[in-house]
Amino acid sequence: MTSIRNIVILTGAGISAESGIDTFRSEGGLWEQHRVEDVATPEAFERDPDLVLRFYDMRREAIQTKEPNAAHHALAKLDAEWDGELLIVTQNVDDLHERAGARRVLHMHGEHLNAWCTACDVRSPWTGTLIDRPACPECGEAALRPDVVWFGEMPYQMDEIFAALRGADLFVSIGTSGAVYPAAGFVRNARELGAETLELNLEPSQGTAWFDEARHGPATRIVQAWVEEMLSLHR
Ligand code: NAD
Repeated sequence: MTSIRNIVILTGAGISAESGIDTFRSEGGLWEQHRVEDVATPEAFERDPDLVLRFYDMRREAIQTKEPNAAHHALAKLDAEWDGELLIVTQNVDDLHERAGARRVLHMHGEHLNAWCTACDVRSPWTGTLIDRPACPECGEAALRPDVVWFGEMPYQMDEIFAALRGADLFVSIGTSGAVYPAAGFVRNARELGAETLELNLEPSQGTAWFDEARHGPATRIVQAWVEEMLSLHR
């Protein structure tokens, strides 16, 4: 990996697991005791908005009590010290990359700490609850929803992601199951575009066969080790 200059890093729920935030597909395919279809689709929101808003209110409250772990800190260090192009594309809706100090971060599935007004289309920073139907700070309408991309909705900033993949020498996937598209397809896109590919995950993901190399173990250990390796190879 000595000729690497431009890196795209995809992160998923697994990087935040050791910070105490549940991954999506923990035991039984439930997310915090809920079926994904009941809390993470536009249809669920239409059917039972109170259930969905309460669910995200709890998640939003919970993440504010969690701290970034050694894997988030290692990526923030890489971001600060790497002088080539680098982009952290996260599927996570928590803000632990930013709180660890990473700057080149893109949230393709939105952010818990934003509310999106469906009346005026403006996104506002949001740390409180939405169940009480607060007014949008921009237009005053009570039309705020979580700024989270649900199943069946289009992820954000796909053009920026593909531009980064086109220029990447290395694509690294960290803590993601390879089950949720389009993110799960990035490894194949990256390969076709000529990048080397590396998986860092607790166990082999569904897409593990697509990677040139895979290292398995807890993110706090293997991400830190990989970052030190990258920085020492390129010093
Ligand atoms: P996922 O839950 O489907 O998969 C998590 C992966 O992380 C698994 O392959 C698992 O083996 C691995 N993993 C678990 N603990 C790990 C550890 N300590 N170190 C390294 N790897 C570990 O998550 P995903 O692929 O990100 O998928 C889906 C969706 O879940 C995303 O859309 C995301 O928005 C949402 N989500 C986000 C959060 C968050 O923001 N923290 C939490 C739960 C779900």
